[in-house]
Formats: sequence, C-alpha cells, structure tokens
Amino acid sequence: MDISQIINELGEDREEYFHAVAPPIIQTSNFIFRRVADLTKAFEDEMGGYLYSRGLNPTVDILRKKLAELDGAEDCLVFNNGAAAIFAAVLANIKSGDHIVSVAKPYTWVQRMFDVILPRFNVTVTYIDGTTIENWRNATKANTTFFYLESPNSWDFALQPVQKVAAFAQSKGITTLLDNSYCTPLYQKPIDMGIDMAMQTATKYIGGHSDTLGGVLCGSHAMIKKIFDSEYLNIGSGIQPFNAWLLIRGLRTLPARIDRIKKTTREVVQYMKQHPKVASLLFPFDETFPQYELARQQMKGACGLFTFTLKSSKREDIVRFCESLQHIMMAVSWGGHESLVIPRCAGIKPEDFNPVNKEHCYIRMYVGLEDADYLIKDLGQALEKI
Ligand SMILES: *Cc1c(COP(=O)(O)O)cnc(C)c1O
Repeated sequence: MDISQIINELGEDREEYFHAVAPPIIQTSNFIFRRVADLTKAFEDEMGGYLYSRGLNPTVDILRKKLAELDGAEDCLVFNNGAAAIFAAVLANIKSGDHIVSVAKPYTWVQRMFDVILPRFNVTVTYIDGTTIENWRNATKANTTFFYLESPNSWDFALQPVQKVAAFAQSKGITTLLDNSYCTPLYQKPIDMGIDMAMQTATKYIGGHSDTLGGVLCGSHAMIKKIFDSEYLNIGSGIQPFNAWLLIRGLRTLPARIDRIKKTTREVVQYMKQHPKVASLLFPFDETFPQYELARQQMKGACGLFTFTLKSSKREDIVRFCESLQHIMMAVSWGGHESLVIPRCAGIKPEDFNPVNKEHCYIRMYVGLEDADYLIKDLGQALEKI
C-alpha cells in the first residue's frame, strides 16, 4: 500500500464518527455487551473484539493497523513505551534454561533486563560484536533460542548483516527481534529481511514532538497473538488511547519530518567533519563509516543521529562544549523537533573517565527540525570555546 494511504486513510472509518478527519479518542476502560454469549466469546478470545482497554481499544487499533502495514507485518501491538515492547517480546519467547545472543551494548534498559532480571530466571545472555555472521554462529549454543539485534546501534551505529543473521536463526529455529528505532520502517524493513519481530520506540520519530512515549512491536499474527494473550495483557503496558491518538497525529507528518531531518543532518555532518576541532565522526551514510557499504545495502536512508569526538579528549572540554551550546539542548532521547546533544561522559563517574577510551569521549548529536544554518552557527560558537 502507498505510504500516503497508510498514513492518511488506513484503519480510519470516518463514517463511523461524523466524517471527522481526525479520529476520536475512545477514552473508555470497558465495552458493553447485550448478550452473555458474546461476553463468553470475548473472554475466550480477547483479541477478537473490544472487551476492556487493557486489551484492545478502537483508537489504538487505528494506530496498530497503520504501523503493521508500514512494517510490512501481519500484525502489531503498541505499548506504552519501547522498553515495555522489548520486555514483552523477549519474555514471551524464552523459558528457564534458555540462552540469548545479543549485540554488544544494546539499549540501556535491554541490557538491564538481560543482566539483572533474566538471570533470576536462569536465562543467560552472550553479548557479541554483531557485525559478522560468524560471530553469531560462534556464539550460538544448543540452548540458544533468541537473537537480539539493534541495527544500527544508537551510539556507534554498528550494523548487523541482518539478512544473514535472520537466515541463520531461521535454520536453527531461533527467534529474532530487531530494534529498528534509528531507521523507522521508512528506512529499513526488518520483516522483509527475515526478522521475526521488528521493534521501534514510537517515542522518538513517530511521536516526533517530545510529548509522548510509545513502543511498537510488529510480527506475524501468531506471534503477536501469543504476546497479546499473555505478556501484553498481564504486564498491562499497552498504550493509552490519548497517547495512541498523539502517535497517529505524529505519523501524519513522519515522512516529511524524516526527509527534512535527513537533509539537515547531511549539512551538519559535513560542517562537523571539516571542523579543525572535531577529531572523528560516526554516521552510517558517511563514506568513511566502517560499514558504509552494508548500510547502503540494507537501509534506505540515515536519520538525524551521529556521534563525534573532539580533538581534545579532556573531560572539561567536552563539558565546556556541551554547556556552551545556546540553542541545541542537552537531554536524553531524540526524534523530536528539537536538536539535542548528549555526552557519553555524563554516564561515567569523573574518576572513571578515561580520555584514551574513545567511547568515553563520544558526543552524540540529534538533528531536529531547525534550519541547518542555525544549528551550524550554534555548534561553531561552542567549538570556539574549547
Ligand atoms: C529510546 C529507545 C528505546 C526505548 O524506548 P522508550 O520508548 O524510551 O521506552 C529502545 N531502543 C532505542 C534504540 C532507543 O533509543
């Protein structure tokens, strides 16, 4: 289906609600029944209709239909945030005694789940450099049941050869999940590459305005129903109707925003690369990126995140640079209208900071919807301060 049709029409039944262009927010906890037999049917299969908004809700369903189609998936669940989507997807597909292979340095709360929560249930995780298929093969054991991918990673943008990893997993009956937050389905389609579950945080690009959280999980209908019937209903982390409505609104402008961000990012990256105070820069669609060829093969585009280091690796200089920015704000998250920076050293105790460790010196920038010149001017004056 054409992307414009998905965004403007799919899932929307305007005759049902006064021909309104914008869908209603069906802010209800429960739905009424006239016949006991219908109620019985709803208890037997909660995914078959509306019973209680911890399960399905009509506003949320509009969003689910659009997001499933965008990912080329049979079905989709939308969670209150991305971390919840990942938690439910992993939990539904592992049991005590299982082994997971994960990319090194996955998203913070994924790592927390793997390191703190799952060991309590006798599930072990091996972190690998996921850039080659050999590393996935070598890390696979007899009890490996799950592969966790994040391509690209949101700090150093390391990619996995997704098709190869997915094909190997399929041959071994291993379930795969890929965190596609960086690309969104506009720039990368994990399901088409053979991945079982495509996840993305809707908090970032889909919401797009830094005012709501959401998490998307797409896959086969059987997989989504399995997760819905147990983890989704039990954890109770489904998205609320108003937040779903905000995400529908965000989706309307997603392609336009991504397109604009792509162009501005290219300009900002070019400026930073040639600046004498910048030492290195990581961006998947830059020719110097170590996996540039693979990025071009499996991604249609690269969005607004890039990471750079300053020629000076002194912590004071990194701090001075970040604090000297006058318009670009310092905050976690990304994908909104506002440009952001975050220094890696903010998460490292000053006494543990090692200037020789390049990762400690990383500064990540997210390029939002401002004019390129406005951002470049701000970066330029902050670089002058060091
Ligand atoms: C933000 C983020 C998440 C988690 O999403 P939330 O909506 O914040 O829970 C997962 N993966 C990546 C790569 C992220 O950047």
